[in-house]
Amino acid sequence: MEEENPVDEALKGRNWKPYAYCSSGEKTRGREAYVDCAKRLGEARCLRRSVLLEALASDLPSGTIRFGSRLLAITMDPETSYPILRLHDGSVIKTKVVIGCDGVNSEVANFLDLRPPRMSPTCNVRGFTIYPDGHGYPHDFVTINHNRVFLGRVPLDKKSMIENSEPDLLSLTGTRYRAPWDVLFGSFRKGTVTVAGDAMHVMGPFLGQGGSAALEDAIVLARCLAPHMTSPDQGELSREIIGGALDSYITERRMRLVRLSAKTYIIGSLLESTSLVVKLICILMIILFFRDRFGHTRYDCGRL
Ligand SMILES: Cc1cc2nc3c(=O)[nH]c(=O)nc-3n(C[C@H](O)[C@H](O)[C@H](O)COP(=O)(O)OP(=O)(O)OC[C@H]3O[C@@H](n4cnc5c(N)ncnc54)[C@H](O)[C@@H]3O)c2cc1C
Repeated sequence: MEEENPVDEALKGRNWKPYAYCSSGEKTRGREAYVDCAKRLGEARCLRRSVLLEALASDLPSGTIRFGSRLLAITMDPETSYPILRLHDGSVIKTKVVIGCDGVNSEVANFLDLRPPRMSPTCNVRGFTIYPDGHGYPHDFVTINHNRVFLGRVPLDKKSMIENSEPDLLSLTGTRYRAPWDVLFGSFRKGTVTVAGDAMHVMGPFLGQGGSAALEDAIVLARCLAPHMTSPDQGELSREIIGGALDSYITERRMRLVRLSAKTYIIGSLLESTSLVVKLICILMIILFFRDRFGHTRYDCGRL
C-alpha cells in the first residue's frame, strides 16, 4: 500500500492548499506546484547558510576575513579619491575598492545616496523546532496559503512542528524592499565603491530569490574585476579601470534585478492588497510581463 504523503496528511480537513512543493528535488505534486522539479522548471534547494559561508570562506587565503568590523562611515580621500572606511572600534582602513554587501541597512548604500528601502506590510515569523532524536522526515519544502497567511516548512511535518517550536528561537521581522524603479534608476557606483546583494536590491521573500541574486552578483562582479587583477599592469590599477569594471558589473546586473524586483513586488502586492482594483492591476501586469511564472529561473549568469 502506498504510504500517505505527509502533505496530504497535514492538509486533511483543512481548506488549505499546497502552494509550492518539491520533494527531495525529484518529484512534485499538485496543481499549484510552484517548483516543478520533474519538468525541470526551477528547483527548491535547502541550503544551510553556515555551510555556504564556510564553503566560500575556505577558498580565501587565511587571514582575509576580519570579524567584528562594523562600518560606521565612508569618506573619500581628498588626495587619492580612494575610499576610507571608519570602523566602530576607531580603526581606519584605506582601500582601493569597496563592495558593500552589508545587507538591508547598508552604510555603503547610504554613501551612494541610494533611496532607503521601503517597508512592506508583510511580517516574517521564523522559528525552529528541535527534535532531539531526529525528525526522520525527508528534506521536502512546502508553503501553504490560508487567509493571507503564508506558511513555509522545511522539512515537512504536521502542525506539531509549530506547536513544539522553541519560543526563544522565534524571530519576527518586518519586510523591506528596494522598489523596482529605484533599482532601475539607482546610481550604484561612486568612485570605486559599489554594492551587491541586499544592499543593492533587497526584495520581499515572495519569490525566494534575494540570496540567489546575491550569488549571481558575486559571480558577475568577480568576472568583471578579475581580468584587471591578473593583468601584468595590476600595479597600475587605476580608479578609471576599477570604475569601468564596476560599471560593467552594474550594467550586466541591472535589468536582471529590475525584473526580479518587479516580479517580487507585483506578486507581493497581489498577496498583500485587500483592494480588488490593485489585485486586478497586478494580475494584468503578471499576464503582460510575467506570463511565464518560471521565467526567472531560466537565467544563467555565466561562469566565473
Ligand atoms: C523571510 C525571508 C525568506 C527568504 N527566503 C529566501 C529564499 O528562499 N531564497 C533566497 O535566495 N533568498 C531568500 N531570502 C533573501 C535572503 O535572505 C537575502 O537576500 C540574503 O541574505 C542577502 O544576503 P546579503 O549577504 O546581501 O545580506 P545579509 O545576509 O543581510 O548579510 C549582510 C551582512 O553584513 C553585515 N553588516 C551589516 N551592517 C554592517 C556594517 N555597518 N558593517 C559591517 N558589516 C555589516 C551583517 O552582519 C551581515 O553579516 C529571504 C529573506 C527573508 C527575509
